[in-house]
Amino acid sequence: MSTRRPPVKPADPRVHRLEVLRSERVSPSFQRVTVVGDDLHEFGGMGFDQWFRLFLPVPGSDSLRLPRATTSLWYAQYLAIPEAERPHCANYTVREFRPAGPAGAGAAGAGAGAAGAAGAGGASRAELDIDFVLHRGGSGELEGGAAIWACAARPGDALGLLDQGVLFNAPDDATEIHLVADETGLPGTEGIVRSLHRASVGSVIQEVPTRADVRPLDVPDGVEVTWVVRDELDARALGALGSGSRPLGGDDDVDGRGAGGAEGAGGVAPGEGALAALLARSAADPGAYAYVVGESALATSGRRHLHAAGLPKNRITFSGYWKR
Ligand SMILES: Cc1cc2nc3c(=O)[nH]c(=O)nc-3n(C[C@H](O)[C@H](O)[C@H](O)COP(=O)(O)OP(=O)(O)OC[C@H]3O[C@@H](n4cnc5c(N)ncnc54)[C@H](O)[C@@H]3O)c2cc1C
Repeated sequence: MSTRRPPVKPADPRVHRLEVLRSERVSPSFQRVTVVGDDLHEFGGMGFDQWFRLFLPVPGSDSLRLPRATTSLWYAQYLAIPEAERPHCANYTVREFRPAGPAGAGAAGAGAGAAGAAGAGGASRAELDIDFVLHRGGSGELEGGAAIWACAARPGDALGLLDQGVLFNAPDDATEIHLVADETGLPGTEGIVRSLHRASVGSVIQEVPTRADVRPLDVPDGVEVTWVVRDELDARALGALGSGSRPLGGDDDVDGRGAGGAEGAGGVAPGEGALAALLARSAADPGAYAYVVGESALATSGRRHLHAAGLPKNRITFSGYWKR
């Protein structure tokens, strides 16, 4: 994972010991796990794409050993845990954080670059939602320690979390904001657009596996959203997306159907649709800021294209969230 602008670190990171409140399928490709914990009210909701290290118990084990260090030393401590007891560790994003009690009600992270967490608040305890992409192996079986855990999670199951801060880091003078992501970046996209100043202008290219995974985004009026629905794409549709160049953040009215095409699944890999949609955009305002996350090839090729299109490297945050 690499970014050009330095990430914004949490002021007081903690290792939180948490438990599952509920786990539910919110759309075909996403399992949402809501977690609570005695010290979760101390979690500093930063808004935007705040992410964390997630620690999950070894399958079949009742105990959960967690590192204590909150600096980069956490990893050495983690590796020192005997392999048979070492938790599965994966990176996830705050989909929504709801501070406890009435105080939370005013914390919805809208506007003015608010660092506040999203959510209506009002619950007796703080709650945090995590959206897990359900990814499958060649024969269709669910794969990945975290995704499998999320689907099997039951109330009371233990987990740990270490806050890592925010990757999104637009310069104050950014003229436009452009986001590009595959489905693993959708929770971050939701958090970023919700946290943006309401006068922000720019674009979002958001890829999802199926149309039923498309969800409402709380975007400022000046931010155009393009949904790329992967199972409606085939090679021909990708080619069409790549032709007919228009400026990044152009103002034509693009909805998901226009971007996705109507044909059936054509073996398009995650990230390829979002990348094709980005490659179809030509010039970038050199004063803009862009953020590209998801499958590794989307992040690196997207960044290369944006730079070639005129955006300085220090105005691009890119991060390979996972690798095919
Ligand atoms: C900063 C950051 C924030 C992230 N936020 C989120 C988030 O909010 N939600 C989310 O779902 N993911 C998120 N990710 C991506 C997530 O960490 C990876 O997808 C991770 O590999 C999932 O862990 P796992 O245990 O399920 O699979 P692993 O055990 O790591 O991988 C098992 C296999 O699955 C493949 N694989 C992993 N992820 C995917 C995928 N999405 N699609 C297809 N194949 C895959 C791997 O290549 C590997 O072959 C984030 C990553 C980063 C760096």
